[in-house]
Amino acid sequence: MSSENRELHIFLFPFMAYGHMIPVSDMAKLFAAQGVKTTIITTPLNAPTFSKSTRSRKTNSGRIEIEIKTIKFPSQEAGLPEGCENLDSLPTPEFANNFSKALGLLQEPLERLLFEDQPSCLVADMFFPWATDAAAKFGIPRLVFHGISFFALAASDCVRRYQPFKNMSSDSEPFVIPNLPGEIKMTRAQVPYFLKENIENDLTQLMKQAHDSEVGSYGIVVNSFYELEPVYADYYRKLLGRKAWHIGPLSLCNRDNEEKSYRGKEVSIDEHECLKWLNSKKPNSVVYVCFGSMARFSNSQLKEIAAGLEATRLEFIWVVRRGKNDDDVGKEDWLPEGFEERMEGKGLIIRGWAPQVPILDHGAVGGFVTHCGWNSTLEGIAAGLPMVTWPVSAEQFYNEKLVTQVLKIGVGVGDQMWVSVEGDSVKREAIEKAVTQIMVGEEAEEMRSRSKGLAEQARGAIEKGGSSHFDLNALIEELSCQR
Ligand code: UDP
Repeated sequence: MSSENRELHIFLFPFMAYGHMIPVSDMAKLFAAQGVKTTIITTPLNAPTFSKSTRSRKTNSGRIEIEIKTIKFPSQEAGLPEGCENLDSLPTPEFANNFSKALGLLQEPLERLLFEDQPSCLVADMFFPWATDAAAKFGIPRLVFHGISFFALAASDCVRRYQPFKNMSSDSEPFVIPNLPGEIKMTRAQVPYFLKENIENDLTQLMKQAHDSEVGSYGIVVNSFYELEPVYADYYRKLLGRKAWHIGPLSLCNRDNEEKSYRGKEVSIDEHECLKWLNSKKPNSVVYVCFGSMARFSNSQLKEIAAGLEATRLEFIWVVRRGKNDDDVGKEDWLPEGFEERMEGKGLIIRGWAPQVPILDHGAVGGFVTHCGWNSTLEGIAAGLPMVTWPVSAEQFYNEKLVTQVLKIGVGVGDQMWVSVEGDSVKREAIEKAVTQIMVGEEAEEMRSRSKGLAEQARGAIEKGGSSHFDLNALIEELSCQR
């Protein structure tokens, strides 16, 4: 640990959604391990997530390296129910606008903390566009964290800039993303609605402000590694002319199973039982199915997934976001009749939250059906797995293109559409076909072998002398010079 870095004090201010909080927890551990004083700013109900995941990081003297400070979340002022401090706890998606409004109201309390603590740098999520101005008031640099890949940053910039979807006669006709290296194809149906339609609301305004504030910021930190997407990392830095540091895969900073499991929510299964179950399986024989922290599927879609998995005759772990807090607890009408009895010993259903990284890293797991959230995608890559891509919303369609068209380590489940709430269009036959394709046969082995190669490069990137380790230190050094 460098004693010089102790002088540096970083404020991390993550967006209140698990897909953003989890990598920031890992990022805090990375900075703290380099001797940087690290403070996470969050709201009271989100604080336990961070304290749990960073608790293992203590110095020999028992001092916790990472401090967590809270500011009040303005639920009431924004018209949100009390206790709604996380995107995950919105009563209905219609409250997203209120949530956006609440984010704007956090500027003043954050500025108060900046005044009191005088940190040397603010790393704030893209969803806090005002953070660039807030940092400037205190003469410190603001770095943006989007939580997405260089590829998605570059592709979304091209789609926003050139609007290729405007020239298409139908939603399903493919177009090549203009000016993006690699002849990447997508369809109008896969472009987020706020880019296609001229809607003005709090959310669309926020997206525009986020883009402007990124341009005005000091630079960005990216959860990726150079070897994974060199062309797109260069594109972002050289063609778009922005400063960026890649410091990932962030999930790899968690070394043992306990640390890997304490990410996000409380797990809904005994982690040891789950790994014991996997220990009894053959290498690469189990498919892991999980759609992240936000995506929700209708009952009929869940039934199709169950039937598709059964038809593959493969063993599986399937994470379903139905748990204790759901209204329909006790009702299992999303499962085909007798499914669990037939799948006894063969399939494990986790209702709620899974210890995803330990599962992905287990040698018995041979493939991953994912919604292509960037954290999940990168965790799948770091585990060396081929993937079935099933994007739903956000920037997930870009991640899919990276996996299937650039890295060639996965197959798409079908021609999906960008939806803000839930999908229910994929039939059991398509699921069976795609899962079999990544698990069995020559093509599956080729994809697995490419993915294993990337996993090795990922580990190399975070070791001393690796590209992400180098960038992390370059960033710390540059910030130290700024002070
Ligand atoms: N995750 C987990 N258990 C679950 C579901 C998700 O640990 O049951 C973690 C996953 O490992 C990843 C994050 O939650 O780190 C989800 O982020 P991602 O970007 O993949 O998707 P999002 O939830 O933002 O859609």
